[in-house]
Amino acid sequence: SKTPVTLLGLGDMGTALARAWLAAEHPLTVWNRTPEKTGPLREEGARTAATPAEAVASATGPVVLCLLDDASVGEVLDGTDLNGKDVVNLTTGTPAQARLRARWAEERGARFLDGGIMAVPPMIGRPGTGGYVFYSGDRELFERHRGVLEAPAGAEFVGEDPGHAALHDIALLSAMTGMFAGITHAFALVRPEKNLDRTRFAALLAEWLGAMAGTAHDMAAQLVGGDYTEGVTSNLAMMTAANDAFLATAEEQSVDPRLLVPYMELMSRRVAQGHGDEGLAGTVALLGGE
Ligand code: NDP
Repeated sequence: SKTPVTLLGLGDMGTALARAWLAAEHPLTVWNRTPEKTGPLREEGARTAATPAEAVASATGPVVLCLLDDASVGEVLDGTDLNGKDVVNLTTGTPAQARLRARWAEERGARFLDGGIMAVPPMIGRPGTGGYVFYSGDRELFERHRGVLEAPAGAEFVGEDPGHAALHDIALLSAMTGMFAGITHAFALVRPEKNLDRTRFAALLAEWLGAMAGTAHDMAAQLVGGDYTEGVTSNLAMMTAANDAFLATAEEQSVDPRLLVPYMELMSRRVAQGHGDEGLAGTVALLGGE
């Protein structure tokens, strides 16, 4: 028979996870602060617990948390007996919160794995939609429960530092935020044009961004090798010159360039330091992070 799962938190994401474990025939115990949300899942075969303490006490498999934030994890686990339990925290938080939570759990005799979910609820339990979860922390816990963890979505272990799942999660989402800023600026540029097909423009835009995403590999090679000119085909001097045309075009189209300017300033600063022959890797250290 399959490993039982205990799940605390039945928001949009928790409910999707619950359904995926039920579909994969894992015995499931659920608890939610607002008890009404357990109703439909009970009808679908889940057991319900009246309190977090009761849910944790009866757990023989992983105890999964999918709550709003780290503070709610603290509130919910307060007063539960975690000794000997396997805790898997899928609540979004910062790397520091994950590290503290790992220590907190270990002090209470639990093993701890942190997760960062790279999916939206409709992707959960649907292989092929591209959703997965970053995990970090206790490697043995991850290996032991891999079957459970892979039922709702792919599972990607990124190291024993419990902060690294959150760091990967937030880093990828931060990069996505920059991409959204770029897409927003691009649509603003074409906005004044009456005779421009937005649908076709969107297709070209998405394809271009896909092609350019591979520059992450070039940047990694430069950062690892320490030579920021390695393999450079578009250097900073050329790019900063093109930036002038980007800004002039924004002005022609009456578009506020605020989403582009901060990064362009960084590129210009690196060129001013005498590194016009480099690629973009040299701008990384200008942001700090030492
Ligand atoms: P929801 O807002 O739908 O649900 C929040 C859940 O947290 C509910 O079960 C809520 O209980 C519970 N909760 C909030 N505060 C407390 C508290 N103080 N004590 C006890 N329970 C509390 O969020 P989601 O389910 O969408 O998200 C859950 C986690 O998953 C978050 O960390 C989110 O960042 C992450 N995630 C979500 C994604 C998404 O697209 N939805 C994508 C990737 C990650 P109640 O029902 O009583 O309000």
